[in-house]
Amino acid sequence: MGKKLWRVVETEFEPSQNLNQETLFALGNGYIGTRGTFEEGIGGASTEGTYLNGFYESEPIAYGEKFAGYPDVGQTMLNVANGKVIRLYVDGELMRLDSGTVLAYERVLDMKRGLLRRKLRWESSSGKQVEIKVERFVSLARKNLAAIRYKVTPLNFSGKLVLYAGLDGEAKNLASDDDPRLGAAFAEDVLPFRGKELGEQTAVLHQQTRNSGFHVVCGVTHWLETERPFTNHPLADDDLRLGHRFRIEAEQDEPVVLVKLIAYTTSLDTELDKLYGFVKGELAAGTAVGYDGLKQEQIDFLYDFWYATDVVIKGDDELQRGLRFNMYHLLQSVGRDGRTNIAAKGLTGQGYEGHTFWDTEIYMLPFFLYNNPGISRKLLEYRYHILPKARERARQMAHPVGALFPWRTISGDECSSYYPAGTAQYHINADVAFAIKRYYEATQDGDFMQQYGAEILFETARLWLDVGHYRNDKFCIDAVTGPDEYTAIVNNNAYTNLMAAENLRFAAKTAVWLQQDFPTVYQALAEKIGLGPDEAAAWEAAAAAMLLPYDEERQLVAQDDSFLNKAVWDFANTPADHYPLLLHYHPLLLYRRQVCKQADVVLAEFLLHDRFDLAQKKRDFDYYEPLTTHDSSLSACIFGIMAAEVGYPEKAYDYFIETAVADLDNKKGNTKDGIHAANMAGAWQSITFGFAGMRVGDTLSFKPIIPAHWDSYSFKIRYRGRHIGVTVNQTDHNYKLLDGDPLEIEASGEMVWLM
Ligand code: BGC
Repeated sequence: MGKKLWRVVETEFEPSQNLNQETLFALGNGYIGTRGTFEEGIGGASTEGTYLNGFYESEPIAYGEKFAGYPDVGQTMLNVANGKVIRLYVDGELMRLDSGTVLAYERVLDMKRGLLRRKLRWESSSGKQVEIKVERFVSLARKNLAAIRYKVTPLNFSGKLVLYAGLDGEAKNLASDDDPRLGAAFAEDVLPFRGKELGEQTAVLHQQTRNSGFHVVCGVTHWLETERPFTNHPLADDDLRLGHRFRIEAEQDEPVVLVKLIAYTTSLDTELDKLYGFVKGELAAGTAVGYDGLKQEQIDFLYDFWYATDVVIKGDDELQRGLRFNMYHLLQSVGRDGRTNIAAKGLTGQGYEGHTFWDTEIYMLPFFLYNNPGISRKLLEYRYHILPKARERARQMAHPVGALFPWRTISGDECSSYYPAGTAQYHINADVAFAIKRYYEATQDGDFMQQYGAEILFETARLWLDVGHYRNDKFCIDAVTGPDEYTAIVNNNAYTNLMAAENLRFAAKTAVWLQQDFPTVYQALAEKIGLGPDEAAAWEAAAAAMLLPYDEERQLVAQDDSFLNKAVWDFANTPADHYPLLLHYHPLLLYRRQVCKQADVVLAEFLLHDRFDLAQKKRDFDYYEPLTTHDSSLSACIFGIMAAEVGYPEKAYDYFIETAVADLDNKKGNTKDGIHAANMAGAWQSITFGFAGMRVGDTLSFKPIIPAHWDSYSFKIRYRGRHIGVTVNQTDHNYKLLDGDPLEIEASGEMVWLM
């Protein structure tokens, strides 16, 4: 396999693209995320950013008019101390890409091995040339550690080099007044100084947030590898800037190597009096293993990841690379400790303030579930971890029972300040329940269900009964917003009703299962949450009576009670530069019209695939597609998947391209603020659920198609303890049991035994 299919390569530094590139070249391990900024900094547009999953500052939300139940405080993922800092002085002159002369430049993200490399030749104003090779990674094997190797070789001189390596605690957070997707601003010193330690090799900085009160400690260790004489001065420019200055008597053609290890922890993970000790311990452990040892761990980790996860497309190199890029970033974004999640932008930028949405359950979770189910379990444990806050939120919203998950959050508190497209999206509850159902179907992990799953299902089911009501024997859910954020506060949003019914049914089924098979577990849980003997039957009844808005005349599923009565948006007179519409039109103008930001009915028909026949899916696709702007990056992949199912293979392919390279090609124009993680997972779903027509329930089934110019595509799936390889080419499709017991699957309508 050609190397280029595993690499993102930049051969020229283009300042106008820098903010974007910083996102694309960001590295992370699900805990630490750091943007692709240069160690030595750069003049001009740059957003230095290092983020820790789950670490945030909270601040009162400023409302013009505030009503009951509005959340009081928001949460914003913070930019923490920058541990990457390295400055090189060549004969007294500071090396930076925007000074001197850059004679050669290349930057490579090596996705196969999890490394970011940069190679350049630079000439100072006095004509001294150096070659610089930088390699860095955030360790996927060690949650708290990142490493950099910075190698400098004088090319046409012998003389003094100075390398300063340090950390910088004066980190700033971004904000925007005109783009609601970016978020809140903070006072400059959002992370005041609390203490420091500066040793011969190690510098440690301790800071604390003002409102949330969290402590964060960043430590760096530096050492030089060179045959040449040098001195080392530990140095504190001020409280927030610590490091080591090395002066080297360098010799032409003899490389000098600086190694830097960076470690972070916070009071969310580590006891207060152990913060310094923990960070120093991580640095010492990393030092003992050495740079090469840490790098080997990284390569091994990624070998295992790619073995389970890789999707191979033969015949379309661009898309192959784009897909790998997406999968790689998903891995970099996912919290794996059961207490953190995946932010909509991963850990690559401050868009959406680092919040987690339903994106995780409906978009990202399947990617992990069918490749690395252990990670998907951790994501669901996160929901259990925040269940107490979801209960609290339900009470704030005057629901006497049940739990209401926040539309957007970091640590579990509802943070959406614009309720029509936020709090009102009650479907988040059903999305979480749906993910639990999917998880159980694919893993049969009864232990998870007993410990966590059942409780979440019961509490979410209870809420629906309180939110909805019976009208003429039909169960109705009023005044909610579905996935489509260009339509708000409606009665009987089809997606919400359908998914709530699924939530209710599965909760009832789980209650019966627990009662029969694990009566003591059921009893303990029922007592804990005060579950009455008739509740499960009431869930079942509400599910059976759930209203589905339907236009009999046109035989269409209506997006909600009123959607089809509205006038259609005037697409013909909407200038191309007025998309996304949300940045150009008052929400009311959008709410009054038939116009969709993203898949809604079409999404429900994908997720609940066996509840609709093909003709219905096709009619609804044909109706809603022209009304949908895909202004949300969560949309194109779903339309692509459904296009494949209803018989539009070319459209499926077009939507797939749109999805697969969305960030690499900056299709939404805001990649600078971070990746679009849900869309990235949507690209994986486009192959598996889309082209391969995979559907999962009590059987695993496929119904593949293949774009005309591809030779083949293949991927692997984990399902109920099996590992299955799927390959589709122009004439054939085959399924191979790589591991586990024989299994019967459905392939294009026929039952096939895999053994
Ligand atoms: C979409 C939501 C999504 C959010 C975060 C919005 O633009 O409409 O569905 O959850 O972005 O990705």
